[in-house]
Amino acid sequence: MDKLPGKCYLICAERAHKHARHYIGYSDWFDHRIDLHRKGQGAKLIANGFNAHGIGWEVVKTWEEGVSFEYGQGYEFEKKLKARKDAAALCPRCAAKRKAYKNANQKSIRNERRNQAQQSR
Ligand SMILES: [Zn+2]
Repeated sequence: MDKLPGKCYLICAERAHKHARHYIGYSDWFDHRIDLHRKGQGAKLIANGFNAHGIGWEVVKTWEEGVSFEYGQGYEFEKKLKARKDAAALCPRCAAKRKAYKNANQKSIRNERRNQAQQSR
């Protein structure tokens, strides 16, 4: 069988374990690799961190080799992603939350200004 194109993946946990909330990995056999993560094999952060502490996690993003690898291939790409040290910025789930938080903040500032304006009338 031909080698399948590899995938780089980003895992996001529902809460952080020792400040780590994201895991970036790469595999030629993606589904199998995720299975292993579920069973607690392969990555210490997931096995001893998330799984052992009952922290739920899911794959929130994948990059496919030859399609969306901006630079390098395979493990090279994984290494470069990890070197950025800003997995949260790559995470669609956390980015959406940050946006919602920002919007909520701006809304409350607007409401406060409106209240102040009404009171000074
Ligand atoms: Zn995230």
